[in-house]
Amino acid sequence: MNQKKMQQSTRKNKSDNQQHQEQKRREFVQPAEPVLRFLPTAWAKLLYFRDRGQTEIGGFGITKTDDLLYVEDFVTVKQEATGASISFDDEAVADFFDSQVDAGRKPEQFARIWLHSHPGNSAQPSGTDEATFQRVFGNCQWAVMFVLALGGKSYARLRFNVGPGGSVVIPVVVDYSQPFGSSDQQAWETEYQANIKAESWFKSFGSQVNLGLEEDVSSYSVPNDWLEEFETMEPAERQYVLDELAGRPDLWDESEVICEY
Ligand SMILES: [Zn+2]
Repeated sequence: MNQKKMQQSTRKNKSDNQQHQEQKRREFVQPAEPVLRFLPTAWAKLLYFRDRGQTEIGGFGITKTDDLLYVEDFVTVKQEATGASISFDDEAVADFFDSQVDAGRKPEQFARIWLHSHPGNSAQPSGTDEATFQRVFGNCQWAVMFVLALGGKSYARLRFNVGPGGSVVIPVVVDYSQPFGSSDQQAWETEYQANIKAESWFKSFGSQVNLGLEEDVSSYSVPNDWLEEFETMEPAERQYVLDELAGRPDLWDESEVICEY
C-alpha cells in the first residue's frame, strides 16, 4: 500500500470511527425510554383482583417473548393478604415457576415483574415493599416493582443490577393498539378464591390484645391507608405493632428469593 492510500485509509477509518462515536453519543443522549405496557385483558384482571377485596393482592406479570416489559397476563399465587402486606406461599411460587417453565417460558418472562395493589390512594411503595423488592429480586439482573392503588394511581420502577446498576421510575401504559381477549370474570373469581387468603391486620397479631380501638376490631382490620393509621397510633401501640411484625416470620420470610445467582 503506498503512503497516499494509507493516509486515505487512515482518514476513512477515522471518519468511520467518528461516525460511530457520534452514533454512540446520540444513543446515549436519547436512549429508548423503557415503558411498562399492559395488554388490556391483563390490566382488567389486575383491576378485578384489586377491587375484589379490601386487602393488597400480588402476583407476577407474564410478558411477551420479544418484549419483557409488555405484560400479557397477570397471575397470582397462593398468598396471605392484609391491608398492608402480602405473603406469597413459597411452595405456590415454586409450582408457578414450574408450570411456566413447562409452558416454555423463560424466567425473564414470568419472574421479573412483581405486581401488587394498595387498598388506599397511594401507589408509593412502602418500606416493606422496598425491603421485599430488595430481598426477593435483589440478585436478579433486572426486575420491576409495580404498584396499583385503589384510587387509580400506579407506580413502576425498573431496577437493574448489570453494569453500574441503578433504578428508574418508568411510565405505565395500557396498550389498546393490539388485539386483546375478552374478560373472564368467572375464571378470575375462581383464581381469587383459590389464591387470596384475606387476613385481618390486627387479628393476625392476636385479638387478645387491646390496642385501644373500638370493640369491633374488624372495622379496623383493613384500613384504607394503613400508614396513616400507623401514624396516628400511640408510641406504645406503634412499638407493639413493630414488635409483632418482627415476630411474624411468615410476613418476613427470608427464604423467598427469586434470583439466587
Ligand atoms: Zn405495597
